Amino acid sequence: MKFHLAMTAGLAGYILKNRMRPRPEWQKNLGPESGGANPFRILPPKTGEKRQPHPMIRQRFPIVLMLEPLHACNLTCTGCGRIREYESTITERVPLEECLAAVDECGAPVVSICGGEPMMYPQIGALTAGILERDRNIYLCTNGMFIVRRLREFRPDRRFYFNVHLDGMEKTHDLCVERDGVFREAVEGVKAAKAAGFQVCTNTTVYKETDMLEIEELFEFLRQFDVDGHQISPAYGYSAVDDREIFMTREEVNEKFRDFERVARKYPVKQTPLYVEFLRGEHDFPCTAWGNPTYNVKGWKGPCYLITDGHYRTFEELMTQTPWESYGPGNDPRCEHCMVHCGFEPSAALGINAGLADNLKMLAWTLR
Ligand code: SF4
Repeated sequence: MKFHLAMTAGLAGYILKNRMRPRPEWQKNLGPESGGANPFRILPPKTGEKRQPHPMIRQRFPIVLMLEPLHACNLTCTGCGRIREYESTITERVPLEECLAAVDECGAPVVSICGGEPMMYPQIGALTAGILERDRNIYLCTNGMFIVRRLREFRPDRRFYFNVHLDGMEKTHDLCVERDGVFREAVEGVKAAKAAGFQVCTNTTVYKETDMLEIEELFEFLRQFDVDGHQISPAYGYSAVDDREIFMTREEVNEKFRDFERVARKYPVKQTPLYVEFLRGEHDFPCTAWGNPTYNVKGWKGPCYLITDGHYRTFEELMTQTPWESYGPGNDPRCEHCMVHCGFEPSAALGINAGLADNLKMLAWTLR
């Protein structure tokens, strides 16, 4: 993700500090003999061949907290797993004090407030104010339909972005969210927020059916509102979403993003160039899901935003009791085709598998 230069400097300092002095208790591999929580792990062959240590051993720490204060939503989007997985707790909310305690406990410099629809959370203004008081950066992920109504509860801040979900132009987006009129309301939200001095970026999920030329058309359309950036990620199959037809294999993702480097140069795409290369199949990364921990009504969700093998009471338990090394492509069949940004963007940001040329590319992108 891209931030202001001052924010990037703060983030770089945080990453450097954690890489120089990693918390030892977060770096342990639990190993297959531990009886870790992942029942799907692929065990090492019995030939005596030793499993390679995870490349991110000794480098685990949180970067972006995915905070879900509620799972209720006014929409029922086709690709959303939350309203299905958390059906039994859909009316519950994480109390404001508990949300802020999770921010403190985790310590990640970036908080992505998601859900459900976080703009339906009654204290959403107080929640963002509390997070900004803690000097964290915020992405408030929303379908945009409540922005006009609730805008006065927020104050513009360079550490704060509305992150509006748009999966295509009007017809396509309304189809994805299964309701007519959503695109228009979201765009009204974007306009109102920009007019009031807020920073706004958009968040697009790419499905098997997505026409990438339409995504370019969307970015071009949003130019007139002076939108500050675009986030993009391929969709990946939640176990809670039945419709396998909409998700892609790795090869299909590579093909979909083949020409995306050109688009990323033309528009303010927030994803790092290395992550874009990863999507094109030109770079390989391990999963770094611990970089994006998720907190919701059931506690700390492990191992990642997509898979739920357990909920932990404390962040410390999530970090120390999750068998991180048994997730990711090659370790767990459920991860085989996953390329979502919350699982792999930390790898790009941390420069895993990056050479000098890659680091220079990242620097040029940061300063652009
Ligand atoms: S590869 Fe994807 S699905 Fe698997 S643990 Fe990582 S983020 Fe989750």
